[in-house]
Amino acid sequence: MRALMQDWSLTLDKIFDHAARWHGEREVVTRSVEGPITRSTYADLHRRAKQVSHALLEAGVKPGDRVATMGWNSDRHLEAWYGTIGIGAILHTLNPRLFPEQIVYIANHAGDEVLLADPACAPLLAEILPQCPGIRQVVFLSEEAPETPFPAQAYEAWIAGRPTDTPWGGFDENDAAGLCYTSGTTGNPKGVLYGHRSNYLHAMMTLQPDALNLSARDTVMLIVPMYHANAWGVMYSAPMVGAKLVLPGQKLDGASLHELIETEGVTYSAGVPTIWQMLLTHLKETGGKLTTLQRVTVGGSACPESIFRTLHDDYGVDVIHGWGMTETSPLATVSVPSPEIADLGFEAQLPYKLKQGRLLCNLDLKLVNDAGERLPHDGKTFGRLLIKGPTIASGYFRAEGGEVLDDEGFFDTGDVSTIDPEGYMQITDRAKDVIKSGGEWISSIDIENIAVGADGVACAAVIGIAHPKWDERPLLIIEPKPGAAPTREQLLTYLEGKIAKWWMPDDVAFVEKIPLGATGKINKLALRETFKDYKLPSAQAAE
Ligand code: ADP
Repeated sequence: MRALMQDWSLTLDKIFDHAARWHGEREVVTRSVEGPITRSTYADLHRRAKQVSHALLEAGVKPGDRVATMGWNSDRHLEAWYGTIGIGAILHTLNPRLFPEQIVYIANHAGDEVLLADPACAPLLAEILPQCPGIRQVVFLSEEAPETPFPAQAYEAWIAGRPTDTPWGGFDENDAAGLCYTSGTTGNPKGVLYGHRSNYLHAMMTLQPDALNLSARDTVMLIVPMYHANAWGVMYSAPMVGAKLVLPGQKLDGASLHELIETEGVTYSAGVPTIWQMLLTHLKETGGKLTTLQRVTVGGSACPESIFRTLHDDYGVDVIHGWGMTETSPLATVSVPSPEIADLGFEAQLPYKLKQGRLLCNLDLKLVNDAGERLPHDGKTFGRLLIKGPTIASGYFRAEGGEVLDDEGFFDTGDVSTIDPEGYMQITDRAKDVIKSGGEWISSIDIENIAVGADGVACAAVIGIAHPKWDERPLLIIEPKPGAAPTREQLLTYLEGKIAKWWMPDDVAFVEKIPLGATGKINKLALRETFKDYKLPSAQAAE
């Protein structure tokens, strides 16, 4: 028997209609590409997004066509976002930090036709556009278009005077809405194709009190770039609840972020650990305070204990650790306290907060060994982590990578983790970064997280180096803080007693800068390349 409920398809245009109609006066604040901080409202942005839709339709964009953006977090980017998906076209967020040849590959693979870009991307575009023949129109997300060797328009002139009531919707909730490529730390970039329904559900899942817990009373600053992993869903979740939104543009340094947090009264924010580290360094140097910020979600890579502690002890900010990946929309687990630990103090809760957390509703997780057999949730046994649900990719765009689900329909995340009896999942490593020493696995992440707490260490990375006896042994790579000169012995002594004896790095190398990838994570591919001929002292002894 069919239910007697109304037919209301979960399409994303409805989220922005709702924000404009019921939270219309709520502010959206941007550090603009022109420099000044600009203010507008959901109602204004909605009208302008409709103008974008009109311009796109006039440019011949049809449902299912790809419209690319290449820009920092801004109000115009948000308008372009909804202006695209509102007419059933697919928003492809390109990451300007990738290498030009990667961008060319991705734009051609995606089949982008129209490109909306920040003016700062002009030199990059001059280089890549001749190799992207499919892109037939370029619009700069600015007042004025910079001088370019290719034809381009300025966004403001492009949308000016257009109707503000271009119709949206009318497509299926399972139609595609967004396209986002994984940053390629695991090989060729692959496209993840989000749907209206999947993003709608993801936003609702992430809004729950035991997830991000956003509300109309929050002022949300989105530091995670809009091109990174579906902007962690915040482009949907913040308008869905009518939260005030702060978009920091290109300036993500500690001073600029701190200024916005304080002047706009930001209560919640989300970003990768390196961003928080930069902000904390700035606050320490200047004696700055965080008077409004209540909680932050940190994810994308493991959040070091020092960030949890400093934000909690010195600034009264609660850190919510989140885990996910581009393929999981992205948020899938969050480390909020379960009732069993909710009344314990910070110190007792910390071990749980440091884990990547408990699963959101609608999803299922399993841990398996190499034979695909399920492993116990005892908090100790680690295995490959697989995930299933309506917000999880079922395959990649243009069938890249072939079949990605196992016979129970689970997606292999490529992460290695444990799950404890309370349901907290902890990432121990990426399957390809795990160090295989004598048939046992050593977690590079665990060692990094501890090593980063040693005196004089700005950043720590651990990679496996070939070893004649053990297959691989860990090498600890250290980027010292400016002016500091920690020694090999100091670091190894620091690790003693904090990690198992057989996990102890066989050597320590010092570098000026640990390379970060396009989304701020340690670039292990580059490190492996740098250290490919490295000989461990223990390997020479064993030879
Ligand atoms: P890419 O795969 O291109 O690096 P993603 O942003 O999709 O881009 O990265 C997802 C991966 O990042 C996860 O599979 C996991 O390894 C890692 N990751 C994400 N959040 C966390 C976290 N809180 N702790 C540890 N690792 C994380």
